[in-house]
Amino acid sequence: MTQAIDRPSAKFKPTFTKLVSKEGSAEYPLKAIHICEETFAPLEVAYDYDAIREQVSRESIAKGPNSIWRYKAFLPVESENPIDVGTGMTPLVKSNRLARRLGLKNLYIKNDAVNMPTLSFKDRVVSVALTRARELGFTTVSCASTGNLANSTAAIAAHAGLDCCVFIPSDLEAGKVLGTLIYNPTVMAVKGNYDQVNRLCCEVGNTYGWGFVNINLRPYYSEGSKTLGFEVAEQLGWKLPDHIVAPLASGSLFTKIHKGFQEFVKVGLVDDKPVRFSGAQAEGCSPIAQAFKEGRDFVIPVKPNTIAKSIAIGNPADGMYALDLARKTNGNIESVNDAEIIEGMKLLAETEGIFTETAGGTTIAVLKKLVEAGKIDPEETTVVYITGNGLKTQEAVQGYISEPFLIEPKLDSFERALDRSRTLERLEWQQVSV
Ligand SMILES: *Cc1c(COP(=O)(O)O)cnc(C)c1O
Repeated sequence: MTQAIDRPSAKFKPTFTKLVSKEGSAEYPLKAIHICEETFAPLEVAYDYDAIREQVSRESIAKGPNSIWRYKAFLPVESENPIDVGTGMTPLVKSNRLARRLGLKNLYIKNDAVNMPTLSFKDRVVSVALTRARELGFTTVSCASTGNLANSTAAIAAHAGLDCCVFIPSDLEAGKVLGTLIYNPTVMAVKGNYDQVNRLCCEVGNTYGWGFVNINLRPYYSEGSKTLGFEVAEQLGWKLPDHIVAPLASGSLFTKIHKGFQEFVKVGLVDDKPVRFSGAQAEGCSPIAQAFKEGRDFVIPVKPNTIAKSIAIGNPADGMYALDLARKTNGNIESVNDAEIIEGMKLLAETEGIFTETAGGTTIAVLKKLVEAGKIDPEETTVVYITGNGLKTQEAVQGYISEPFLIEPKLDSFERALDRSRTLERLEWQQVSV
């Protein structure tokens, strides 16, 4: 009997090599650190791209797991068995009705409202961060969260058997709080906004030696967002889009989609081409959009006041890099008010059957605004990133959607209600057409 040949490409070898400063040339070991001691710039994971090129091909990726771990060679983990709860490979939907409504020909929706396990894009970053946390020997994990991150950290920590303590602002939506508590972590609801929560967590992190996914583990955590770039390129048939529109909180996800595209180009999985990057913020927390409009290259922190709580970061860590990326790719950064955000949520639901949360409403409303301003070419292949699920922010649309018809269990009661509904529809139709 012949022995199976152990092909080198079949064996996983870690490809991440060190942490490097985003400004300057300082290098650091692959530990739980996130800031350059010399420049105070964020640290980023560096890779051996020759090693990645040797390990991956379009075929090997396509044969991989149906999750973000099909891109493991591009992620900062060394475990043979990373924490895989089915995160990633969410649908890329070709939009018909929303596209027609907006006058676009090639619009796609990347639907992370149905990401696993907690219905937001945060499951991507947390799957990577907790895998790395386990490798680094942490037994307690934590985070400073605007809601979705707490859901994700608590759920995936439960699955991995890690102790978990999360910090949230005390005024979050009920669905986000309940959607964390169910996994039975310790939850600290802080009387303050996200930026205050984050500052407190920096102090706690220094004293307790916990793995904070978005603080001391941030270099690894943020790499998880690259998978939003990888998946779109693969799902478009190994091609890059012309234009992407995504929400901005800290600005990390936005810049990492770009890093993902660039890495696919670097190892020869897709052809290079210019991709425009446009960002979406809520007017009540739009420090990056304001800097963009005013032509500044720095971000002035603001105090958030918007229904889009999941993206309400007043002092965005990667704001400057997001700003730079939008400018150098000929994109835009726009903001919309709370009424427009609600309209955005309703528009996506009514045209595509996707119920997104306030962050998605923000992104759709900004997409619409950019189209109306002539800043999106109807022919461009445009991908809009929907990052969270509407069932978690139900209070945002309460009072802005219709009520059910309450009827008796009788045919005539039903028919009267149907008549009323048709009259209402006619009235609405008349209002729209004037
Ligand atoms: C956290 C979050 C974002 C933005 O993330 P950043 O990487 O901090 O910019 C976008 N959408 C939703 C739903 C989020 O929870």
